[in-house]
Amino acid sequence: MKKENVIKSCYSSLRNVTPLEFDCGKICKGKCCGGDGKTGMLLYPGEENLIDPEIEIIKNENGDSFAVCNGSCDRNKRPLACRIYPLFPVIKKDEAGEYIEVELDPRADCPLTSGEYKITRRFAKGVKRVGRYLLLNDETNVFYRELSDEIQEYIVLKKFFKK
Ligand code: SF4
Ligand code: SF4
Repeated sequence: MKKENVIKSCYSSLRNVTPLEFDCGKICKGKCCGGDGKTGMLLYPGEENLIDPEIEIIKNENGDSFAVCNGSCDRNKRPLACRIYPLFPVIKKDEAGEYIEVELDPRADCPLTSGEYKITRRFAKGVKRVGRYLLLNDETNVFYRELSDEIQEYIVLKKFFKK
């Protein structure tokens, strides 16, 4: 599958699905859309031409692209990182092989990570589907696996330091 089509499928997976049954932005005044015009969301391969053109795209020294917003965007054209937040579909392995487990993103600064709120099954399922789609193109596959490994390491470290 072409990378752009992978991303479009990921977007569709979470089109009408939200983390809670109500607008979670009401809990925190939309904290994750604070938009300081400096902090960026990592873009997946194929996303650059699909997101809201009003969102600025910058590249780091490794060539990774980031979307930098000012706190508002066309919701239908928001980046994938914003759609799956605060979850992440982590790739894991056991004796039976590889599988995807949806985890709270350990980097997230979001009230939904406190355990106080119940994230909907529909949202978690959508995030899992995103993981499956990202494996369907060579470029998104490699990118996603690297990111998943980084996040898995982060989760392990966070658990270790909590002990
Ligand atoms: S995802 Fe988290 S930080 Fe973002 S609006 Fe919802 S509760 Fe707030
Ligand atoms: S790009 Fe849109 S959804 Fe993502 S943080 Fe900015 S305003 Fe929020």
